[in-house]
Amino acid sequence: MLETTPDSPYQGRATVDLDAIAENIQVLRSYAPGRAQMAIIKANAYGHGLLPVAQTALRAGVTSLGVAQLTEARILREGLDAAGIDPSAAPILAWIGMSGADWAGALKASIDLSVSWTWVLSEICAAARETGIRARIHLKIDTGMSRAGATLTDLPALVAAVCMAEEEGLVEVVGAWSHLSCGDDLSKEGRAATAAQVNTFEQGLKILADGGVKPQIRHLCATSGILWHPEAHYDMVRVGIGMYGLSPNPLTARGASLGLRPAMTLCAPLSSVKVVEDDTPVSYGGTWRAKGRRWLGLVPLGYADGILRAGSQGAPVRVDGHTPIHTQIVGRICMDQFIVDLGPAQGTPGTPSASSGQAPARVGDTVTLFGDPALGVPSADEWAETAGTINYEIVTRLGETIPRIYLNDRHLSEPWEAR
Ligand SMILES: *Cc1c(COP(=O)(O)O)cnc(C)c1O
Repeated sequence: MLETTPDSPYQGRATVDLDAIAENIQVLRSYAPGRAQMAIIKANAYGHGLLPVAQTALRAGVTSLGVAQLTEARILREGLDAAGIDPSAAPILAWIGMSGADWAGALKASIDLSVSWTWVLSEICAAARETGIRARIHLKIDTGMSRAGATLTDLPALVAAVCMAEEEGLVEVVGAWSHLSCGDDLSKEGRAATAAQVNTFEQGLKILADGGVKPQIRHLCATSGILWHPEAHYDMVRVGIGMYGLSPNPLTARGASLGLRPAMTLCAPLSSVKVVEDDTPVSYGGTWRAKGRRWLGLVPLGYADGILRAGSQGAPVRVDGHTPIHTQIVGRICMDQFIVDLGPAQGTPGTPSASSGQAPARVGDTVTLFGDPALGVPSADEWAETAGTINYEIVTRLGETIPRIYLNDRHLSEPWEAR
């Protein structure tokens, strides 16, 4: 039975095993030995919790942290400060910054900044002059993703501007970086796309070198590159989805076969168990109908909690009744609830639930939506497949409403020593 959390009105909870996070970091290190690791903890650490994952990752030996938004970086810095972790031991890179962003605030909070365009550089230089703090920047090269990054065509002008800013003492070029778009695709085409990106990255690095810019750290690979493109590891790799124990592409390799263990388990208690008659429609639109008299269970989680509605009809769950029941969601996922099939019921039509044989599960029994498949529960991969998406979205979309409970939280309290 799940204990209800006294401080939360919500019955569902996501447990996050910090040992799994620490172990996955070690496993990923074995794929890129000798390379520094940046832990990617954007989007609330893919839904796992920004600060706990950051602290665990730092203690597991990553040398820096990466987030998308400046705001997340600021929140993270405040949390690390409060935990007594010095900025020099925990560089944070934030790579999204709009024109007019609070660059001065970012510099005061010791946030490293990504630079793709000369206008960003100008704004950062202005903040560096204003604060007297030299900005630590990572120059981003667009190698084929067409997202952020300077194209090879635009790069020389950026490099010239960076040189001037360096001479003025306004910036320090910490990194040169880019991102692979097809790192998880091991088909001939996918490999060719990655090879082309590596080649473009090399050309970009040459433009930097020719312009007299010497980045300290070159980095290109996220998890897929760590696993499948050793030729692209450079000085540092960015550990994202793999750190959370999930494969960047389960069709290429399942997490377990890569030695990874999912850190997050999502559970909720059954809030109702009852019998419905043959052909009873279930949930909005009546899209599923009971075949024969059946036991149905109700679960107090829904799309408002980030349970993807696209998982309606068929997403797997395990119900820990008196024996474990491997079953699935039936009918549409509602805003705050969904219904699971618990199997056939005894009795003739009109028999009350209480007289329909032994109920397969009781109110309060634990329903697990996803977790570590090695423990016999469904995986985020299966959820992703049912919902027509990727495991990243399954964990990341999990709502703030759901309390995160940390297992093995000694990772948060062990004495801190900088590496
Ligand atoms: C999200 C992200 C990563 C991490 O990717 P994973 O596939 O989760 O390892 C790394 N770098 C950048 C720029 C990203 O946006």
